[in-house]
Amino acid sequence: MATYIVLLGAPGVGKGTQAEILSERSGLAHISSGDLFRENIKNQTELGKLAQTYMSQGELVPDDVTIAMIRDRLSRPDCKAGAILDGFPRTPAQAEALEKMLNEFHGQVDVVPLITAAESVLKERLNDRWTCRAVGHIFNAKSNPPKHVGICDIDGSELYQRDDDKAATVIHRIQVYLDQTSPLIDHYREVGKLVEIDGMQSIEHVTQDLLEALKK
Ligand code: AMP
Repeated sequence: MATYIVLLGAPGVGKGTQAEILSERSGLAHISSGDLFRENIKNQTELGKLAQTYMSQGELVPDDVTIAMIRDRLSRPDCKAGAILDGFPRTPAQAEALEKMLNEFHGQVDVVPLITAAESVLKERLNDRWTCRAVGHIFNAKSNPPKHVGICDIDGSELYQRDDDKAATVIHRIQVYLDQTSPLIDHYREVGKLVEIDGMQSIEHVTQDLLEALKK
């Protein structure tokens, strides 16, 4: 049966970085809803145009289009063995839709690691974050710098600071997480799928804790 992992946590906590590592180690597909939206923006699709109006404000893109995009992505052949979901679900309605979708694919959400960190750390990390233009590899000027300033170690593309990583939008994104996404914590705890991971540790230690959680 396929394995589906939902990474939960506030913006800047390290979901994207850890999802990349876990995907490499497990061979499961890494699905980042934010990356999918950014790809649509880059390709100037209708979905991209719509998403951009919400993303630039730090608001969530409406559930219906987000759910349809994830359904399409999960239906692709590289998700046959399962997936690591990074940034989805972000609302109770998305969580419900995910459950139904995975039922159709004869699977379920297996485990939900919740990565946590203090709000001051989230703000600092987002402020120092650099993202690669090509596919969204993530670096941090202080804790995980690229070998050459401004260039992605992995694919050599340009690194840029996301507009929504700038201070004013970050504060709003964290509030949106607390208001709209944090109810999912109780939901996944109640169904026995939540595992809390201390995201204040080094990248390597967080990965170790995640791998331990996934073994169980
Ligand atoms: P992320 O890259 O996960 O930080 O997401 C960047 C932005 O994309 C968010 O601030 C939202 O505007 C949008 N977004 C990503 N995932 C979702 C989702 N599951 N539901 C709604 N909006 C999303």
